[in-house]
This record gives sequence, C-alpha cells and structure tokens, in this order.
Amino acid sequence: MARERLYLFDTTLRDGAQTNGVDFTLNDKLTIAGLLDDLGIDYVEGGYPGANPTDTELFGEQRKLDTTFTAFGMTRRPGRSASNDPGLAALLDAKADAICFVAKSWDYHVRVALETTLEENLASIRDSVRAAKQKGREVLLDCEHFFDGYKANPEFALACAKAAYEEGARWVVLCDTNGGTLPHEVEAIVTEVCKVIPGDHVGIHAHNDTEQAVANSLAAVRAGARQIQGTLNGLGERCGNANLVSIIPTLKLKPEFSKQFEIGVTDSKLKDLLHVSRALDELLNRAPNRHAPYVGESAFATKAGIHASAIMKEPKTYEHVPPETIGNRRKLMVSDQAGRSNVLAELDRIGLKVDRNDPRIATLLDVVKEREAIGYAYEAADASFDLLARRTLGKVPSYFEVVQFDVNVEQRYNALGERVTVSMAVVKVKVGDETLISAGEGSGPVHALDVALRKDLGKYQRYINGLELTDYRVRILDAGTEAVTRVLIESQDESGERWTTVGVSPNIIDASFQALMDSIVYKLVKAGATA
Ligand SMILES: [Zn+2]
Repeated sequence: MARERLYLFDTTLRDGAQTNGVDFTLNDKLTIAGLLDDLGIDYVEGGYPGANPTDTELFGEQRKLDTTFTAFGMTRRPGRSASNDPGLAALLDAKADAICFVAKSWDYHVRVALETTLEENLASIRDSVRAAKQKGREVLLDCEHFFDGYKANPEFALACAKAAYEEGARWVVLCDTNGGTLPHEVEAIVTEVCKVIPGDHVGIHAHNDTEQAVANSLAAVRAGARQIQGTLNGLGERCGNANLVSIIPTLKLKPEFSKQFEIGVTDSKLKDLLHVSRALDELLNRAPNRHAPYVGESAFATKAGIHASAIMKEPKTYEHVPPETIGNRRKLMVSDQAGRSNVLAELDRIGLKVDRNDPRIATLLDVVKEREAIGYAYEAADASFDLLARRTLGKVPSYFEVVQFDVNVEQRYNALGERVTVSMAVVKVKVGDETLISAGEGSGPVHALDVALRKDLGKYQRYINGLELTDYRVRILDAGTEAVTRVLIESQDESGERWTTVGVSPNIIDASFQALMDSIVYKLVKAGATA
C-alpha cells in the first residue's frame, strides 16, 4: 500500500532563534541549514529578511540546498496596498524558494493588536499570498493563535485559513502560538479544519508550554494535517517548539505512523539524528540533554543488574526501539547497584575480551564498589570505567608520568585598573627517558593545568592535538567524615566522539587533575598508542 507523504518544516533558524541566549551568526545559520538539508527536512525556514542584518544577508543570495528554503515575514500592513509596503517588498525580494507569512487569526488580536477590521485582515492575507504567488514563490500562511482564535470565533479563524488556501497558498499552518492547547483539543479542531481545507494543505506549529508540543503535532497528524513544523532539540522561546528530534524517530519507528506515512528522512539518514542533535548543542555551546528521548545519553541506559542480564539476552525486553536506528547506543551502567552481569556486558561493549570466569572480574567489581563508596561515579564516567577495567586486567600501557605539578592563582589589577584573576600551572612530565616541563596560563587553575598538561607530551602529542574539553562539572559530596569534591570532565576529539572522566579528592585541583589524566590516557588507548 502506498504511504502518504508527510512533510517536515524546520524553524530552528527563525522561531528557534527567539530562544533566550541564542544568537546565530550567518555562518551558524548556513551550517545548520546544511545539516537539516542533508538530513532530509523538506522545508528550512532561514529567518526574517529585513528584520535584522544577518537574515537579510542570508537571503541576499541563492543558497544551494535541496530543501525548500523559506523566508518568514508578515502579511501586508493594514491600510496599505501590497505594492506600497516596504516589509512585504523585502520579503518578496528575498532569494527564497518559499515565503511563510504570519497573520492573525484570532478576532480579539485583530481588533486589539492590529486595531483593524476583520475584513481588512482577510484582505491583507489574500493580497500578500497573491503577491508572493505572482513572484513565483511557494506560499505558506502561519495562522497565529489559531487554536485560541478558533475557540473564540471559529468562523473568523477558518475564514483566515480559507482566504490563504483559496488564494493558492500551498500550506495553511495552524499555530498554537502560546502553547496552551491540549492534544485532544488539537485533534478535534484540526478535524474540523480538514473538513474545509484538504489535510494535505494543513500544517501544525506547536509550542511546548504544557510539554505537549510533540503530542499536539502527532494529534494534528491523526486528525489529517500533513505538515509538521518544529525545531532541532525543541529550541524556541519560553518552553520551546515541537522537537523534531523526537518527532522524526516516532514517525519512522512507530508502526502507527510508519505504516501510513513516508517522510523525507531515510532510514540511513535517521542514523545521523544523534549527530545532528549534538551538532546544534555544540554550536550553541550547551551540554547535551542526557535525558532527551531517543538521542540522550541516558535514553537507552539501564542500571539494575537484573535488567542488564535480560537486556543482553534480548534487548527488546527493555527497549522501545533499537538505539542504533537513531545513532545512539545501549548503555549498561556500572554502579554500586550493579551486578556481575552489568560489568560483563560493559566489558563486551568496550571490546575487552576476558574469560567469564576470570577472577579479575570479581576484583574489578570490588574496586568499582569501593571507589563508588568514596564518591566516584562510573555510570556517568564511561571512559574512567573503561580505563579502570583495562587497568585491572593489566591492559593500559604506562605512557607517561606526571612527576610534579604546581598551580597558582593570582589576583591583581591590570593596566586599566580592573581587578583580574590569572592562573598559571607548571607541569613536569616524564615520557620514557625524557623529562618535559610545560607551563600554561588559564582563566582558572583547572584551565591552566589542562593547558600545561596538554602542551607537550612528546611523542604522544600528535594523538591529543584534537582533544578538547567540552564540559566541566563539580559537586561537593558528603563522604564519611569530610566533604570531598567530585569532578566530571567531558572531552571530545576530532572525530566528534565524546567521553566523560571522573576524579574525586578533598582538593578540587587534585580531583580535576585525575579526571584530566584519565581523559588523556583514554584518548591514547582509544587511538591505539603504544608505550
Ligand atoms: Zn512559533
């Protein structure tokens, strides 16, 4: 049976750019548009030409993309003709394949915010759609506050949608602009809309203010809508937009949708989803959400020992979809609750071949339990666990030795009379017969120590050139009689692989040092460096 086509519209670069603290440069926008295009998203909304210099430049030249590159803007202003509206003119001049207009569809807003008549609002929609069609653009209309508008005055809300459709708009998009509508309401209202406008011309644009933007999008599809608008990682103002990173795998992997619908994202591109999600975090300099559905680090993590042995025998028993389909992986956490089966499974995963009856496995389990009791967290620090396991089994070469390190923090006034704090670190490392001394400066003591430590590792330097610290987390723990500090460091290398290491000590510098050391040694092991 032929499946129906369902279209995906990404607005990370327009609505997502409204997020507090997000400020995309032109280059950022081009990078993200490229990722979305490659993933197979049908429409990429780039921004609002004329509203700011970045967006004007973005639409200043033709972008070579397969996706329908879309410019966003307002319909003509009330009381003006379409040919005498500079905002509309800028939009029509934009080098875009499609134009997505936004218009009011709630009578209350038309009267109070626009201070115009309902008839003039409808005329503005018709004129704007017609002008864009004449320019040869595909046209979409975002009906702002559609659901609230429909509840207040269904005839008028529908009239706005119909005005655009009858004038030739390809899509009429129903927006839950303040995100307050619930799934059953969306389903009921979209069902009514689809009696007037064919569903394959109806889209949904949901915000996440009741944490139901994804559910609302799927409810709209059930009711007949055939375009979903959303953003990567649910980026967007307030609580965000519908998260395409959750919607895409649901459409691809849940039979209710996958049997009925086809989307532009192929099975093989679906495997890139985790990478695309992380690339956006990377660009925004944000730590990825560990608990994100499908792509989070914890999305397929299992803790208890009894589950772990079952999961190894038959993953389906505990997983709703196979993690590899979206580029994620199964993770069995090693923790104080862990049994032997967790450890064995984890050794399997990191590729350490060991006889299941080897007495060193019991030793490893004991060491993990002892260390977790004093504050180490191996379920969060997979790379430190990997090293601990390899060390217990005698498989980590001794690459180098830090003979001595010294860190100082200095507070002084600079030439401008401003108070500044600078840190310096000196590290003495022995690599083979060679002794190397490096100094590093940083914004803080750990930063300085990291710079010094990675400055010169002699013959190993080439392995760690691409190493980068991406996250640093500190927690003070109450362990027994004294407080200790736990440091978790997340690192990344040139291949984009990330790993986490842990250090614990009453001294924060020492805890950081342990985690930094583990990160470097892990990278050397991973790269196959020999001693
Ligand atoms: Zn929005």
